[in-house]
Amino acid sequence: MNLTLFSAQPYDHIYFTPAAEKAGITIQYQEMPLNETTAALVAETEAVCVFVNDLVNEKVCAQLSAAGVRIIALRCAGFNNVNLEAAKKYQLRVCRVPAYSPESVAEHAVAMILTLNRKTHKAYNRVREQNYSINGLLGFNLFGKTVGVVGTGNIGACFCKIMLGFGCRVIAYDIAKNPSLEKLGVEYVPLEEVLKAAIVSLHCPLTPQTHHLINEQTLEKMQPGVMLINTSRGGLIDTKAVIQALKKGVIGYLGMDVYEQEENLFFKDLSNRLLEDETLQRLSSFHNVLITAHQAFFTQEALHEIATTTLKNIISLKNDNNLPQQAAILV
Ligand code: NAD
Repeated sequence: MNLTLFSAQPYDHIYFTPAAEKAGITIQYQEMPLNETTAALVAETEAVCVFVNDLVNEKVCAQLSAAGVRIIALRCAGFNNVNLEAAKKYQLRVCRVPAYSPESVAEHAVAMILTLNRKTHKAYNRVREQNYSINGLLGFNLFGKTVGVVGTGNIGACFCKIMLGFGCRVIAYDIAKNPSLEKLGVEYVPLEEVLKAAIVSLHCPLTPQTHHLINEQTLEKMQPGVMLINTSRGGLIDTKAVIQALKKGVIGYLGMDVYEQEENLFFKDLSNRLLEDETLQRLSSFHNVLITAHQAFFTQEALHEIATTTLKNIISLKNDNNLPQQAAILV
């Protein structure tokens, strides 16, 4: 069976190639992202494998279907970049990896909190330059602070447990409560209350309901000096409103692993080019903003799980085209 893997990075080769050999799948790696231009390049492949910034809209679905593709395998959990209705219309089956390693993303969110708070990134540079002053590096104890979590699915649940371990009070909002978290001490409260916490971490998917969840109005309700962490999807945050809030000091710390306009930037080495994205440039200029380029998932354990589960999903769909919709099979 042939599979074309889009947006291929060197680490995809390392984890997918041995797993594909075992599964009897031949992979054609494409460095380019999948979009309306590159979909035309697909030939003699039953399945395509896509990542977070590949675009699978109606036109792409039509092109893939016409080229004989039957399966779209997402090698990630989020699927906001795929038009599922269009996939159905063009008889494409779509699968994803719902929970490859929720710990990887939750731990990265915590890494962002600790870095922003204790300023270890600044301390590292200072000490290398023999600047042993600690002025300006003052942090606060996490113990006893209230942490607000939006979305308590796989990743949010892991994050809650880690923060409980720090001795934080954890309050959460989700459209569906997780009773096992309540037993551990997580308190479900309305979204408005969650947004008033000292630290707010976003772990819900990007949907029409959650698009710009953090906007001018919701920012007004937040505690001045709040630490906002987004490892979920860039579109959860209205970036322009967040910049204004940073300027006014409403946001005291911002950690983002995802960015609204990341498609043309993240996962690429653009160090030799001028940064044309003025919004990202402005964000990078704040001393209290920490940006990572969508690396929260990036652990050995996660990559291994992503490769094996993606290929398992593809084989299951190939062998049984009538598999019902479930967490891993979206359409
Ligand atoms: P999940 O499906 O297990 O959990 C999502 C939770 O959000 C669910 O409990 C759901 O009920 C809740 N939710 C849905 N709509 C909501 C709303 N309107 N308000 C509040 N809660 C809502 O997903 P997950 O595996 O925990 O992943 C969460 C998100 O993290 C993914 O959608 C993806 O966008 C992102 N993600 C990012 C990375 C990264 O590397 N940065 C990696 C994996 C996933």
